[in-house]
Amino acid sequence: MHINEHFLKLEDSYLFFTISQKVRAYAEANPGVEILRLGVGDVTRPLAPAVVEAMRKAVLEMGRAETFRGYGDYEGYPFLRQAVCGYYRQKGVALREDEVFISDGAKSDLGNILDIFSQDNAVLIPNPVYPVYADTNIMAGREILYMNGTAENGFLPLPEKNVRADIIYLCSPNNPTGAVYSREQLGAWVAYALDNDAVILFDSAYEGFIQDGALPASIYQIEGAAECAIEFCSFSKTAGFTGTRCGYTVVPHTLVRGGVSLNGLWLRRQTTKFNGVPYIVQRGAEAVFTAEGLAQTKRDIAYYLENARMMADTLDGLGIWFTGGRNAPYIWLKCPTGLSSWGFFDFLLTKAGVVGTPGAGFGAGGEGFFRLSAFGERDNVAAAMGRIKAALGEGGDYHAD
Ligand code: PLP
Repeated sequence: MHINEHFLKLEDSYLFFTISQKVRAYAEANPGVEILRLGVGDVTRPLAPAVVEAMRKAVLEMGRAETFRGYGDYEGYPFLRQAVCGYYRQKGVALREDEVFISDGAKSDLGNILDIFSQDNAVLIPNPVYPVYADTNIMAGREILYMNGTAENGFLPLPEKNVRADIIYLCSPNNPTGAVYSREQLGAWVAYALDNDAVILFDSAYEGFIQDGALPASIYQIEGAAECAIEFCSFSKTAGFTGTRCGYTVVPHTLVRGGVSLNGLWLRRQTTKFNGVPYIVQRGAEAVFTAEGLAQTKRDIAYYLENARMMADTLDGLGIWFTGGRNAPYIWLKCPTGLSSWGFFDFLLTKAGVVGTPGAGFGAGGEGFFRLSAFGERDNVAAAMGRIKAALGEGGDYHAD
């Protein structure tokens, strides 16, 4: 027998392991210092009361013979698929219920979707980016073309005429950069995909953070996207479901390649390899879209965005270049005076006791940059900003070196 040797081509993911080792070593050497963590992309706000109440009711239903439910639909319960359609209607996007597939989160579907595409497709992936896109394609043995995010293009790479791709990954609002494509920029990608018969895999896991109504919160707000794009979304970051697990993937009926409906292929894939999301979780997710649930989750998003604003103000005050933070929970900053990503990580840890994420961990294009997450608790963020100001500001250690 032979193993899948493509796995051996994956780079070991040292990022969070190395971070935790460095933090542990520092904590052991400095037992009196409280370490403030702005590195992890996990949420800290609890589930909204409307979600908890819906799940509580669903648990009770599962405990009574009359209302007990066994296997659900592979594609998700109609009540949740309809609620997703209602949410998209508010964004001006008309979806059919059978174009929405409920999942256990965006990460699984982003990996699983590759089942429906041939091995020989050319894949185009931004750099830096959420590492799952590249790793899932490396596992499948595909060649990857990278498009570079840079300070000059605001970490929003656009199509280039001389680059031919069949599968294109876009993430907006972006992890790690917090950058958000405009309608015009997404329009350029949709035009490129239609011209090249390509498919865009659009990751909108952070769409709930968009405050500026002029920015697209779904690729289907762009004309022509329903003929060239699949959208992946999640309740993880917008409603605190990172541990509860629920998301959805939209595959329009109008998306046809090689004369075949991708919706039909994805349905076939899901019915074979996936047995659905728990009823209790889907009831909780449904509650996110009620008036109460939307108001409560919006408050949590506002809390994180206020954290981001505090970070942005601090960086502005220090004259440090950054993207993100306004319609996204991440701030992506240029490491001051030419420090490498890990150099700045060490500096912040040792001079301020603050932990962030080195940009180089998101691809070579992230070298020299650094990600701060706004998902922390307010007091921690405030304290961290005070320490960063002291370390980097006038008279701080950083300038004294
Ligand atoms: N897409 C992006 C860009 C993410 O940053 C994340 C999680 O951090 C995911 C998808 C995964 O989300 P989920 O928890 O729904 O699997």
